[in-house]
Amino acid sequence: MLTALLLSATLTSAQTAILPPAIPWNGASRSLMAPAGDPWITPSERDQLRTTPRYDETFAYLRRLVAASRDLKMVSLGKSAEGRDVWMVIASTERAFTPEALRKSSKPVVFAQAGIHAGEIDGKDAGLMLLRDMTVRGTKRELLDKVNFLFVPIFNTDGHERFTKFTRINQRGPEEGGWRTNALNLNLNRDYTKADAPEMRAMIRALDTYDPDLYIDLHVTDGADYQYDITYGWNGPAGYSPEIAEWLETTLRPEVDRGLQEMGHIPGPLIFTDDPLSGIGFGQADPRLSNGYGDARHMASILVENHSLKPYDQRVLGTYVLLEHILRTVAKHPGGLAENSAISRAHQSKGPIPLVWRVPENAAAEDREILGITSRKTLSPVTGDVRMEWLGKPVTMRAPVQRATEVVTSVMRPEAYWVPPAWQEVIALLDLHGISYERTTEAQEVDVTMYRLTDPKYETPQFEGHVRVTATITPEKRRERFPAGTAVVPAMTRLGTLAALLLEPASPDSLFQWGYFHSILSPTEYVEAYIMEPMAERMLAEDPKLAEEFRQKIAADEAFRGNSRARLWWFYQRTPFYDERARLYPVGREE
Ligand SMILES: [Zn+2]
Repeated sequence: MLTALLLSATLTSAQTAILPPAIPWNGASRSLMAPAGDPWITPSERDQLRTTPRYDETFAYLRRLVAASRDLKMVSLGKSAEGRDVWMVIASTERAFTPEALRKSSKPVVFAQAGIHAGEIDGKDAGLMLLRDMTVRGTKRELLDKVNFLFVPIFNTDGHERFTKFTRINQRGPEEGGWRTNALNLNLNRDYTKADAPEMRAMIRALDTYDPDLYIDLHVTDGADYQYDITYGWNGPAGYSPEIAEWLETTLRPEVDRGLQEMGHIPGPLIFTDDPLSGIGFGQADPRLSNGYGDARHMASILVENHSLKPYDQRVLGTYVLLEHILRTVAKHPGGLAENSAISRAHQSKGPIPLVWRVPENAAAEDREILGITSRKTLSPVTGDVRMEWLGKPVTMRAPVQRATEVVTSVMRPEAYWVPPAWQEVIALLDLHGISYERTTEAQEVDVTMYRLTDPKYETPQFEGHVRVTATITPEKRRERFPAGTAVVPAMTRLGTLAALLLEPASPDSLFQWGYFHSILSPTEYVEAYIMEPMAERMLAEDPKLAEEFRQKIAADEAFRGNSRARLWWFYQRTPFYDERARLYPVGREE
């Protein structure tokens, strides 16, 4: 007794996160919870959705469920960094439990993953209830009539088991939970293109082999307070899959929003800002992120962000209703999503591939209604700066909307990329992403465009374990000899856009910018001054044009004038001994 008292006394007020006031909620979705005593009550329901079960308890429950239902199967997608299985449950009334069987089925495949950021675990507890209700409890059995459902309850399994009550300081429950990053401290939702984490490699292989029609990534927000409890969105029509974006916006969103509202939830758009009044931005997620990656693959992808300040039960039940109505909508419009996806996948035109977008300067002013929360700004005695305080009263307001629809940087789609066999890590990543190519069996000379990369700028600090880099990119037409074993990657294919995003150095998620080509950026050969001096004298004497160019350079460039080493290097670069391949990006574009 005394020990218990001492223990509880050690949790001081400074160890309790101070959250803005909660809005009272009692939505109709509470009726979805299994009653106490139900043999299939989930571990979280047993605690009135205040807690979330650990990895072992989660999969003990699922194993029991799978054993009791002929419509369920559990498969491991691979192992985490610490060796935990990343489990996926397949729910299929036709028992289509393999990628081949799912492909043969006429039913669309909906894939949802929870816990990519393991502290944001609402999706796991919602998914357990839904799988149960679609099978042994039978209250939602019809959801599987027209859809096959794949569900990963815990993607970031190692992060999930870094279990503590001191996680996610901005979030209202569960009482204890996992951590954002994996065991390598990598953020999986920055890892979709470079795929450093073993969990991510498992996921990319699964997405490529199971090829879902719809991919759902379940998160919890940080940031501003507002009334919405379930926010969700996708890359817009200015992205890589405009027809998919159109279907999601005009068919899926109205039906899912209605379903959520009927059950007492408040659906809203994704809001990535600390203060909605300052504006709501609709950007294009880069392919390092789940929804950007899906867009680049032409796979309909939804990013879900439950609002962190809503209580855990409200968030879990909202996720349940969201998943239910996504399944209903996909089932209700057979062919709609498939047709739009097929169009997005097919039109790999010769036109430009956008790489970077921005909000157009001359964009017409647009605003929209926001279901906000009252706030006040006061002077902070802590920072001396303005402090934002959320007051917990619902307010309807209008906020400016900014849409990043203008393409700032783009590249023309080539016929194919030629990747020399020396770049094995790069080719291995193409393999992982399922990007097809052919290997040459003998050396070949090809007319290509290649890039000279000058003035590299290395980003500090490092990001996700990589020193990122950008450079000035100058195209050169060349007749280039590619060795036997070169990977020739066609770019007019379904995954041609993704190939371009990985292989074009101007692409923010290119393997170049992630640092896979650092070695080409260092000059390695050099010349001794006692060799270059007499050669330079001879060059000046023999080539009056060069002599004039040198004279002008001396006159115009003060730094050059005062730098003897730079002067010699200037001549060295004009000899045939200079490394002709210095800073030449090795991947060719066949046009
Ligand atoms: Zn997240």
